[in-house]
Amino acid sequence: MYCTRCRQKTEDKGGDFVATRNNKLRKTAECAGCGGRKSQFVAEYHGGALSAEEKSEAGHWSRFAGSAYEPVEQRDQFLQDKGIKGWEQDRDFADPHTAVYRNPETGKAVVAFRGTHEAKDLVADAHILAGTFNKSGQYKAWDKTVKGVVGKYGHENVERLTGHSLGGKGALALGSEHQIPSESFNPGSSPLELQKGIVQNLRCKIYPESCRFWKTKQRNWHVAGDPISLGLQGSPYKNKVIMPSGANVHTIANWYDL
Ligand SMILES: [Zn+2]
Repeated sequence: MYCTRCRQKTEDKGGDFVATRNNKLRKTAECAGCGGRKSQFVAEYHGGALSAEEKSEAGHWSRFAGSAYEPVEQRDQFLQDKGIKGWEQDRDFADPHTAVYRNPETGKAVVAFRGTHEAKDLVADAHILAGTFNKSGQYKAWDKTVKGVVGKYGHENVERLTGHSLGGKGALALGSEHQIPSESFNPGSSPLELQKGIVQNLRCKIYPESCRFWKTKQRNWHVAGDPISLGLQGSPYKNKVIMPSGANVHTIANWYDL
């Protein structure tokens, strides 16, 4: 990144992303040359104020994501209470970590992955922090579920993968793997992914086709200031950011009623 004091591009030491008041994202780092602070806006960042349609979509999909936290037998009621009509759980795929819904009228299916119950559990999730989530047991279990749902309903009828926190990480990873559109709310991330995201974005500039699915079909909804999902803010997903509405920047409830 360019250093105004050194008047040239220099190596970065450390680094962080900060959301500014007008919903832009700024990358900051220490200059390896002079030790001063340097920063720049991240051009690939697609945040900013949400449109009315995006707010409504965030509300819709976050309710599915939130439902996965409920006990299996209470999920249908949860969705109904939250105003989502026409969907019922497919018990063939239900477990405490996974909720699959079908819409009998349209033949569509939605898969929701549950997050960990407490933020501190997620931070401790060694796989996410190490950047090896795709090797975890949970990834493999969810992969099996997605394959099963695709087999039963047909690929084109799996409308979305969605999830919050660890579940959001699952929706991003498995959405990429199976090319199914996904909605992730404050997905778990590793600080390592900040650097990885920047590399991926450079690659996207050279090979735009390879990133089209990420950028158009995989939404990454982030509440500014949430440390758990910060690591993905440099990534080439369709990133959307809101300012926190309450003290808890990580909770799925941030998205229900925008
Ligand atoms: Zn410098």
